[in-house]
Order: sequence, then C-alpha cells, then structure tokens
Amino acid sequence: MVNSTDVMQAPVGRAEQRTPNTPLLDLRSITKYYHSTPALYNVDLCINKGSIVCLLGPSGCGKTTLLRVIAGLEQADSGTTIFAGQSINHIPPHQRGFGLMFQEYALFPHRNVAENIAFGLRMRHIPREQIDVRVAEMLTLVGLTGYEQRRVYELSGGERQRVALARSLAPNPPVLMLDEPLGALDRALRERLLDELRDILKQVGVTSIYVTHDQTEAFAIADQLVLMHAGQIEQQGLPTTIYRHPQSTFAARFLGLANLVPAQAVSVTDQLLTFETPLGILQVAEHTTTLQPGQQVWLVIRPEAASIVADTTAPNTLHVDMVEYSFRGSRTRISVRHTSGQTLVFELPDGTLLAGTTDLLLQLDATALSVIPA
Ligand code: ADP
Repeated sequence: MVNSTDVMQAPVGRAEQRTPNTPLLDLRSITKYYHSTPALYNVDLCINKGSIVCLLGPSGCGKTTLLRVIAGLEQADSGTTIFAGQSINHIPPHQRGFGLMFQEYALFPHRNVAENIAFGLRMRHIPREQIDVRVAEMLTLVGLTGYEQRRVYELSGGERQRVALARSLAPNPPVLMLDEPLGALDRALRERLLDELRDILKQVGVTSIYVTHDQTEAFAIADQLVLMHAGQIEQQGLPTTIYRHPQSTFAARFLGLANLVPAQAVSVTDQLLTFETPLGILQVAEHTTTLQPGQQVWLVIRPEAASIVADTTAPNTLHVDMVEYSFRGSRTRISVRHTSGQTLVFELPDGTLLAGTTDLLLQLDATALSVIPA
C-alpha cells in the first residue's frame, strides 16, 4: 500500500540495474577534516538495500558527519560515496533525494499535519489528488488517520515525530537518514516508538541509516550495527554478534560490558578455552583458530553470566563480597568485589538473592564469556 503511488521516483541511481550482491550505498575511504582534525578517517561502509544500519558511538565520534557526507550536506576531503553503483560525490543533496529526520521536529508550526506531510511532494510538483492519496497513506502508516487538519502545536511529542516520519517517507526516498530521532522524548515513549519505528521502516522497506549514542536503542532498531570511535569504525556486524563478541575493550565498555579481566591462555581446544586470570582459572566456550597457549588477552564477562550456587567444586566459580545491590524490576543488579580487588557487575533474575547477603559464590556460564585480543 505504501508504495502504491507511482509518482515518486528516486532522483538518482538505477537500483534495478544492480546485481543482487551490490550494496545500495558503498562508502570508500571517506575522510573529512574540520580544521586540521579528522572527524572521519578512512571510513569504509557498505549498506544493503532495505536494511536498517545504526551508527552508534559516543558524542563527537563522527556519526553526524558521516550522515551529512552521505546526504551531500558535507563534502568529504577524500573518498567516494557510491549509490546504486555510481559515485554521487558531486551530486547536490536535493538531487540525491535522501530523506532526513532529526531529533528536533523541524515541522512547520503554522501548517497543519496534512500540509506538513505534503511538503516534499508539493516541492516535486505532484498533482493535488495524488498528494492527497499519499498523505492519507502516510497517516495510516504512522497511525494518525484523521489527524489531517490538526495543527502541529496541538500534537504530543510522539505524534510530532510520527508526522515527521510520515513527511520524510512521503516522497518515497531511496534512503532515509534518522539523526537521534527519538532523543527529545522520554524513555518510556522512546521505547514504545522505537518498536513502532522499526516496524514502519521494515513495512516500507526503506534503506535506513539511524544515528544514536544509546546502545539499547541501537540494539532494538538495527539490522547492522556500526560502532564508531574517534572518526573510525571500531566494529560492525549484527547487534547480537557485537554484543557477544566485542573486539576491543572500547567496544565492550561502550556497550556496557564493564567486566574486563586480563587473562593468559592455558589451553585451547576446539570448543573450550582455559585461562589463568586474577579471578582464578576461567573457561570460555568459544571457538577460535588463532589463540595460542601463553597468549595474553582480555576476557569479557557479560552481566548475565552469573548465577548463585552452593557447590564450590564446579568450574568458573568465584567467591565474592557484595558491594552494592540495586533492584531493577525484573532483574537485580549487583556489584561485587573479588579477593583480587577486581569489581564486577552482574544482573540476576529478581528473587535469587536474599536480603542481607554479604558473601556469595557465583558460577559463571562459560558461554557468557568472550575473548578480546590484548
Ligand atoms: P557525533 O555525531 O558522533 O556526535 P560529529 O560528527 O557531530 O559527532 O562530530 C565529529 C567531530 O567533528 C567532533 O569533534 C566535532 O566537534 C567536529 N565537528 C563537527 N562539525 C563541525 C564543524 N562544522 N566545524 C568544526 N568541527 C566540527
């Protein structure tokens, strides 16, 4: 239904000429300096048609700059942006026709909802009747049927962002870029809209690039996660893969995986790695072809790795002292200290911990540990 209008054409690119394995967007060695500091350095990124790619990273790591280079709002100092097999380096933003949606609503406050959604279509001189059909389709898509005549100032924050989404999708852009689109909303609304937003983007099938500094938001929305750090791509892949196998201590820490332990490989078999660590001998159920006995690495112990046990002879058990206890609804977050001095944070299912407990025996699930090369 959404793509029923045949009036909107992607202004650049001929996607139908691409072979199935060609990415829709292919960024090659993008470098961008502001003054003498690189905001982006040699960034290579492929984005497949229809996927939701999330650029994640701390403030100042270059996410917005990369988005602006793709949109054509910034010129890279070097490198090539290829769209549907052709360089678009010299194509101005309006001819690229990529949709943009920002945190600030950027709606016209003096116009009603229908006029706001119709804006991009009117700029393309599309006949009035077709615009009306498309506006109605977009309102259905974002769940605001009947809101045509409402003024923007009569809408809640969530409704405004739905209108902003409808407006950016109305011209059927080949790529939609969303820069912290839910950043101005409160947490509960953000979580609800995030699921809706993903459903809508998938329903439309639009290739989307979503910028955020919030890892839970990124996990919820992304097909492909691109973690950025200091103008470069630190790691990219499926959200589950990056969470389970961060490849650097930066990636682990940024994703909230603060339990990092220095370790030395003792034995390496096909499915089980054994390490000597300040916490004692730890086993990791991971397949690797590169690790050698004696090698120094970091182990990441995910917060969900621990469970409370009574048996002291099982592998991967730790005697710890409780430092902090925090009730989080369905889970309890505990901070514990090992005799080595290392502090670790775990999340336990609620109800597994008795009030007043000071020392604990924890067992770590070998599948919830992973290895980072030192
Ligand atoms: P992010 O979106 O990840 O927060 P940005 O892409 O906005 O990061 O910025 C990356 C770096 O480039 C930062 O150090 C920022 O200060 C710098 N920067 C961004 N835009 C400009 C500009 N117009 N002029 C000078 N420096 C800029």
